[in-house]
Amino acid sequence: MTDTHCPYCSLQCGMTLTRRGRALEVGSWPEFPVNEGALCRKGWSAAGLRGSRERLTSPLVRDRSSGEFRPASWNEALDLVAARLATLRESDGHDSVAVFGGGGLTNEKAYQLGKFARVALGTSQIDYNGRWCMSSAASAGNQAFGVDRGLPFPLADVERTDVLVLVGSNLAETMPPAARHLDRLRERGGHVVVVDPRQTPTADRADTFLQPVPGTDLALALGVLHLLVAGSQFDEEYVAARTSGFDAVRREVAAWWPERVERVTGVGADEVRALAARLGEAERVMVLTARGAEQHSHGTATVLAWINVALALGMPGAPYSGYGCLTGQGNGQGGREHGQKADQLPGYRMIDDPEARAHVAAVWGVDADDLPGRGRSAYELLDALGTADGARALLVFGSNIVVSAPNATHVTERLGALDLLVVCDLVMSETAAVADVVLPVTQWAEETGTMTNLEGRVILREQAVDPPEGVRSDLEVIAGLAARLDAPVAFSTDPEEIFTELGRASAGGRADYAGIDYARIRAERGVFWPCPSPDHPGTPRLFAHAFAHPDGRARFVPVSHGGPAEPPCDDYPLHLTTGRVLAQYQSGAQTRRIPELPDNGAFVELHPSLADRIGAVDGAPVLVTTRRGELKAPCRVVTTIRPDTVFVPFHWVGANRLTNDALDPSSGMPEFKVCAAAVTA
Ligand code: SF4
Repeated sequence: MTDTHCPYCSLQCGMTLTRRGRALEVGSWPEFPVNEGALCRKGWSAAGLRGSRERLTSPLVRDRSSGEFRPASWNEALDLVAARLATLRESDGHDSVAVFGGGGLTNEKAYQLGKFARVALGTSQIDYNGRWCMSSAASAGNQAFGVDRGLPFPLADVERTDVLVLVGSNLAETMPPAARHLDRLRERGGHVVVVDPRQTPTADRADTFLQPVPGTDLALALGVLHLLVAGSQFDEEYVAARTSGFDAVRREVAAWWPERVERVTGVGADEVRALAARLGEAERVMVLTARGAEQHSHGTATVLAWINVALALGMPGAPYSGYGCLTGQGNGQGGREHGQKADQLPGYRMIDDPEARAHVAAVWGVDADDLPGRGRSAYELLDALGTADGARALLVFGSNIVVSAPNATHVTERLGALDLLVVCDLVMSETAAVADVVLPVTQWAEETGTMTNLEGRVILREQAVDPPEGVRSDLEVIAGLAARLDAPVAFSTDPEEIFTELGRASAGGRADYAGIDYARIRAERGVFWPCPSPDHPGTPRLFAHAFAHPDGRARFVPVSHGGPAEPPCDDYPLHLTTGRVLAQYQSGAQTRRIPELPDNGAFVELHPSLADRIGAVDGAPVLVTTRRGELKAPCRVVTTIRPDTVFVPFHWVGANRLTNDALDPSSGMPEFKVCAAAVTA
């Protein structure tokens, strides 16, 4: 029996894996503290892909004459890819080759991918799908606190707060074992506030449910802070001693009286007053945001507005209080720390910082001057593919872009304009299906590596079974290509060795892993970063005495409400919002192939009054149209959504053909969560 973790979301639930003949059985691991043995149905069924006929077990190369895939040996496939990359690099320069990673890759893979791009390919063009997940919260956390760790406290602290405000999170469906903390908080007499345009299963667990117009969470936060300031219900001592910038924020919120907030958000002025009063009176307040608040063209500003509320109340750094972001993907946290982001080097160092470049170059054994600079953010990188100044070849690891990119029809066209698309995947995902070369790689139980969960706890996924014959790990793919490209240094394929190197590269950085090793993780069931030395206990809670800015103070950052990039109009009179369902994970490349998980395809959720207006009948198809595309799917008529809003889950091809590619200027986050739409029966 092997103690390990679930392959999916950022909770990284502990589980056991046991071999039963050819089968692999998932069991509970009650001693792992984050989930205490509980799993959701995705976790229980995670071994379902093992032995599946859909697993790829041979490299595939597209035959130029027939246009069809044909099996190839690993040597043939890697030789072909390396030769074409080398030719492109020679003719069009280093940035003609781009790399796209994923928030589900282990820390070792994310680290090695960033090093491969900068050292073996010499390209600045690397980014990853986590840019579309938590980047707005990351940007806001860095601005306000000087560091970005999703939760600066263990998740279980949620139970001990007095008022919990969840903005744009449906954790009861996306990470069900976490919902126990809401129940325990309420049993203790605490109060749960949920802010969401849909009345989700999470909202059903709330004491207060507020249902704003999509894209207006920021205005709600401004209104709450207006009332806290007007009623002198802010913590003057804390603001003076631990923060800077309050006066500018105080001026900004002066114009957000409750009736104005009601007009913008649709949340009643009395409800805004009641929320502000509850927060002002509470001893401990915790505000958590998730994708509903963050995936907007003003997502960073929205998170900053809620952080301003938490800071004014004196909460960040106080026990069982503060602000946190509920990270989404399995390694959403670690994946954004070790170098697969366009602007970043390992340890959350910035690539344009000379000291950071010198430190990492020394660990890598290369000259700092040879490292490329900052590249494009994920959507910008894809948008430029095949254009005069964009990349002409793309290597994809752990991402299903065709389903998950915003404005997906356009992005798929850009993939089609490439000279070479190489995709590493377990199965023939929608992105692999349009590639020139597909490389079959190992999945979670077949390899070892670390992940960093939503709390900043570094955990170890252990190998439990041998991979199918013909399959290699992403690390072997990277090393194989690096050797063929005559990289100046060797690339290890041993995860533990890579993790040790990652620790050295991160030493002294904001996300310092230098004191963490596999043996410690096994013995301690995870270690929280920063952990700068082997004798350091790790850091479950941040900010108790100081924030990470050089002066130790948190920053209030003034922000203003701009609203969605695409407001409703005569032709597109509704708001479209997107999200997840319980049984599916992200683009569904894995979960849609697991027989035990229900897969009824996409649907469109709409309110009975809207259904009446357009003549839609529950279960019958409707057509959703936006400026970028259309989707036909059965409708679900429900009273739990706003009458001016429709919802589509994003696990199937189609939802993201509708979504808007307007980007947050600070984080590069696309506006997945709201655009203008029309619906017809
Ligand atoms: S999907 Fe998330 S909540 Fe469900 S078992 Fe896996 S880690 Fe836990």
